[in-house]
Amino acid sequence: MAGAGQKVVLITGCSSGIGLRMAVMLAQDEQRRYHVIATMRNLQRKDKLVEAAGEAYGKTLSLAVLDVCSDDSVKQCIDGIKDRHVDVLINNAGIGLVGPLESIPVEEMKNVFETNFFGVIRMVKEVMPDMKRRRGGHIIVVSSVMGLQGVVFNDVYAASKFAMEGFCECLAVQLLKFNVTLSMIEPGPVHTEFESKMVQDVRQKEFPGTDPETVHYFKNVYLPSSVDIFETLGQTPDDIARCTKNVIEASSPRFRNLTNPWYTPIVALKYADETGGLSVHAFYHMLFNLGPLMHISMKAMQYLTCGCLRKRTGCFSTPKNGLASPLVSTVSLQFRGSCLRSSDRYSTALVWRGSGGVTWSPPSSRITTKFHMSTDG
Ligand code: NAD
Repeated sequence: MAGAGQKVVLITGCSSGIGLRMAVMLAQDEQRRYHVIATMRNLQRKDKLVEAAGEAYGKTLSLAVLDVCSDDSVKQCIDGIKDRHVDVLINNAGIGLVGPLESIPVEEMKNVFETNFFGVIRMVKEVMPDMKRRRGGHIIVVSSVMGLQGVVFNDVYAASKFAMEGFCECLAVQLLKFNVTLSMIEPGPVHTEFESKMVQDVRQKEFPGTDPETVHYFKNVYLPSSVDIFETLGQTPDDIARCTKNVIEASSPRFRNLTNPWYTPIVALKYADETGGLSVHAFYHMLFNLGPLMHISMKAMQYLTCGCLRKRTGCFSTPKNGLASPLVSTVSLQFRGSCLRSSDRYSTALVWRGSGGVTWSPPSSRITTKFHMSTDG
């Protein structure tokens, strides 16, 4: 049970990955400010979490069963909490889905929405009324950069996260009136079972109903690029947990929290061109024309940075005053002889017309590598 002055934090999907590390980091808070209710569908999967939590288990960390796809399970879990009082709700549970659309049964797609979208809604509906009554609380949703920018062959997963982003944009406004905060965490690639399951699954699959050309692009072009990106730029679950803890502890928590500054320019692309052409063509070139070059670039970056690029993709820390961290990424857009440069700490909103290219200097000034993504034919 939570001690006096301790915040009750409920986290979904804690048997592995990001949820597990969030639960451990908050439960092991040196000032013991949190009582964490770490939830999972099946308590038989608790061992990794219990071991990682060490002495915090049974003191600042307790366990509960919760399946975000079941109304009954969600209600039972919240009813089991003293006074149904939750200060911070972290919606972390989620599943991935990647592959050619033709080969994925609609039932499987619905399952993704049932977990990633309706799972969050079920949790919010159960916890939010009490937060509104108390005029206090913090709802956190683990979204993804794929909730801001779609990535080829991730059609349905990205759609589920886009749906979440829209839902949160609407709800945040209403909640502000009741002094309830809503924040989204938007990680890029993170090394968890999510990634390993995805690679394992697709290697075994046959992709029925998909033409050989698409299967070739998926297996031999997209997948190797995806593995390279995870290896080079992937963050650890601890990076995401630290970022989330910073968001919880900020005096004015931010609504959007991109955890990986390498992804700022990718998100900026769509704001740079309201026709959408820039991002569609940049992704097309990256996959179909620059695939082998990207592999070489990623390997070169791993080599040049001794694999420590991942360590540099920490999160935008949110200091007590809620202001930006010193991490700065620079996006410059070049087109037809002129250049518009924007230096922005979070995301970059740029107005841009016509065709051109995007050159991006990474946030660490010690790395000199530059990407150039051109959309000129
Ligand atoms: P993970 O597979 O290790 O963790 C997901 C957890 O959710 C698992 O413990 C799983 O058992 C749980 N879960 C699945 N369905 C559930 C249900 N119906 N009820 C309760 N729990 C359920 O993967 P992760 O990377 O730690 O994913 C956590 C979140 O981070 C997800 O929302 C995911 O979309 C998001 N995310 C992950 C990445 C990445 O690259 N790993 C990137 C961006 C966002």
